[in-house]
Amino acid sequence: MAGMPTDIRLRFAPSPTGAIHLGNARTALFNFLEARHAGGTFLVRIEDTDRSRSDPRREASLLSDLRWLGLDWAEGPDVGGSRGPYRQSERSGIYARYLAACFNRERVYPCFCTMETLAQDRALQVARGQAPRYTGRCGTLSRAEGERRLAQGERAVWRWRVAGSLTRTWQDLVFGPRHINVADLGDFVISRTDGSVGFLFANAVDDLEMGVSHVLRGEDHLSNTARQILIFEGLDSPAPHYGHLPLLVNPGGAPLAKRAGALSIGDLRMRGFLPDAVRNYLARLGHPYAAPGLLGIETLIQEFGLGKVGRARAVLDPEQLAHWQKLALAALAPVDFAAWGAELPGGVDPTLAALVRENIVDYEDLMLWRDRLTGQAPATPGACAALAAANPALLHFGATDGGDGDHRAFLERFRSAYPGSPPAREVYPVLRAVLTGSLEGPELARLWAWFSPEMRRQRFAAARRAAAAQSQKDPP
Ligand code: GLU
Repeated sequence: MAGMPTDIRLRFAPSPTGAIHLGNARTALFNFLEARHAGGTFLVRIEDTDRSRSDPRREASLLSDLRWLGLDWAEGPDVGGSRGPYRQSERSGIYARYLAACFNRERVYPCFCTMETLAQDRALQVARGQAPRYTGRCGTLSRAEGERRLAQGERAVWRWRVAGSLTRTWQDLVFGPRHINVADLGDFVISRTDGSVGFLFANAVDDLEMGVSHVLRGEDHLSNTARQILIFEGLDSPAPHYGHLPLLVNPGGAPLAKRAGALSIGDLRMRGFLPDAVRNYLARLGHPYAAPGLLGIETLIQEFGLGKVGRARAVLDPEQLAHWQKLALAALAPVDFAAWGAELPGGVDPTLAALVRENIVDYEDLMLWRDRLTGQAPATPGACAALAAANPALLHFGATDGGDGDHRAFLERFRSAYPGSPPAREVYPVLRAVLTGSLEGPELARLWAWFSPEMRRQRFAAARRAAAAQSQKDPP
């Protein structure tokens, strides 16, 4: 069996059963940042022991999401490495070897109890006011008896024998000293009835074999960690240093549920979020960085410190994510911004994208502005009201004038053709409403200049029709 890890080695060990959401991504990022910060190795292992729920396509998209996020790994299913294979589905021989060794040393035993027996035990314990846990019945069978019954094909699961009753303490890297009340655990199941090992055992054996020195994982793994510390004890090996990351919660405080699927990395990518934005956002979820601005990955690594990871639950806040995205978009060189815009489904005129650069967060916003500037988005209620209240002469004038020069020159021509019309300032919202169907957006001068005279004429004509239709609907 492998010896004590001397190098700093951290891993991300996702199960390819679903999309990688922000919670997993933060775990991956923190492990990566700590590995790099400490000059250690970061590796990726795919935990696909649950074959029915694992999907190789998910593995591919998961790895692609991690790379997109800027993480890279020295060892993993796609790059290989000296401690592989890095997919649990390819490691069953290793688990079988460990299991056999553990059986020989009576650390594990086959349990033949049926579901009915277990249910009866549990009911009895509850009736007596005891905490339900396995009674240890099959743990009293001799090894020979266990082997005989297995050889006869009797169905069994493997249980870990929780010997002794002493409390164990471990130093959690985030939460400080944690205690395990061993007597409460009961002999726990580590395999399925087909003999294949499950998460608890496979994950511990892999960490041991792969020399993993530090494990950062979600707080939801605390009780698994307690069991795995006993497994390491039973394997006569020191356990890795464990640190538990406080859970991410929704703004209301509720744990991230399925609906957080909307915040999977894949979704964010499709929505046009930039890796820099997502990385800066995630790196600060429960870990402070002194500098307020967008930090490059090297700075995130340098300034990372496990001691800085907080114990409070971190709140997922889409507005914060949007804030980082705005900074990341603003930081793009023009050519990179153009490339970003070019990825928009259906394409976009680069001058249009550049025009609204400061008014957008993601592709949805860019699409909205594309539709607004090409006259395909319905006007907002505010814009409708502005058009309905607009001076019909202005709309008429615009539909013929075309607005050569800037919007000020246009308004001057209009005011000399129609003396006594309202001051320019009051007309600005109408011009915006005419051009975009919205009262907000880029600076009016830039907006005006983006349109050709012919487009402006068309836009005024359309606004005139819309205002007329509106006043027929609601006569004054
Ligand atoms: N496959 C486990 C998960 O995705 C890994 C947990 C761990 O980091 O040990 O939750």
